[in-house]
Amino acid sequence: MTSTNLSLETKAVHAGALEPRVHRALVTPIFQSATFEFGGEACYDDIRYARLSNTPSHEVLHRRLAALENADSALVAASGMAAITTALLTALKTGDHLLAQSTLYGGTHDFIVNDLPRFGIAADFIDAARPDTWKSALRKNTKVIYVETISNPLMGVGDLREVAPFARANGLTSMIDNTFASPVNFRPFEHGFDLSLHSATKYLNGHSDLAAGAVIGGLKLVKEVTHRLNHLGGSLDPHACFLLERGLKTLVLRVRHQNESALRIARMLRAHPKVETVNYPGLEDHQSHALARKALDGFGGMLSFEIAGDVAAAQRFIERLRIPVVAPSLGGVESLVTRPATTSHVGLTPEQRRKAGISDRLIRLSVGIESAADLIADLEQALGAV
Ligand SMILES: *Cc1c(COP(=O)(O)O)cnc(C)c1O
Repeated sequence: MTSTNLSLETKAVHAGALEPRVHRALVTPIFQSATFEFGGEACYDDIRYARLSNTPSHEVLHRRLAALENADSALVAASGMAAITTALLTALKTGDHLLAQSTLYGGTHDFIVNDLPRFGIAADFIDAARPDTWKSALRKNTKVIYVETISNPLMGVGDLREVAPFARANGLTSMIDNTFASPVNFRPFEHGFDLSLHSATKYLNGHSDLAAGAVIGGLKLVKEVTHRLNHLGGSLDPHACFLLERGLKTLVLRVRHQNESALRIARMLRAHPKVETVNYPGLEDHQSHALARKALDGFGGMLSFEIAGDVAAAQRFIERLRIPVVAPSLGGVESLVTRPATTSHVGLTPEQRRKAGISDRLIRLSVGIESAADLIADLEQALGAV
């Protein structure tokens, strides 16, 4: 069941399930088998073997993820970084150059700046919201343009509808890290992107109990990435496949609830006298609001803000919260809160953080599926105490 005219809710539960059901079991079994009886396969990539991401546990997920983004094909990987690095190492070779958004996920940024140059691959950084500036950053050997749907931790959104046309006009492969949006809020293939990448550790699984990644796109390119992953070895184990499939079934319910709660929380914070700034693309005065409205179906469950006072006040506020857990990562059913300067952006120097607009007192909230009213009351009591 992969028909594109079914709604996301239905596809999240059923798309790509094994037919017929195995022993009539409702749920895809965990195919905990490293190897499978030889069936006459002619090509190495087709031999059934756990590392080759082709057990039935993998294949159900591939069909479901492709269906959720209305793409042709998908691949799961052992983590978001396995998906991202393998995709980049598929589309790029020695002597190539890529354009990447300047506000990238830390691991991706580090890989591009510190690891890719060792393979003779260079990069320049662009402002994803300024398509008029991209052309001048092109080189003769530019092969990839790489962006993120919603950037961390200021929730910036680039001019997403311009990326694929620009890539096509200039012979580039377009890639987008769609982790923060999830297929509920953005489906890159519908906007012409070649590859959508995910940390499935976050919204796709949604239960903070596994690490996984995903690569979603056209048949030919996903096949090439699969071949590279077969060699690099970052495949997802069958038990994690089972957990990810279970998590995906509630993706749409979770993310729609998180969209709504995050907007309500952002509005409450915006109106609170002790809050100085709120970064949420759903707020009319957020710098990315117009671009976000044009491209996204929802504004996501992530927001960040600064309260009046110094870093110590921000820290006291965080410690006063009763519901959100102080923890890095995001996208799960539990609300999580962090100061990016101590977690996701601790690798940057204070000067680099200042330039990126990330103050040491910035607080980031990943809104879970708890009641929005409870979360708002909790945030209000913590604000009242600082
Ligand atoms: C977490 C994250 C990653 C890395 O994913 P892992 O599953 O931790 O490897 C990549 N991109 C974004 C936007 C993320 O939030």
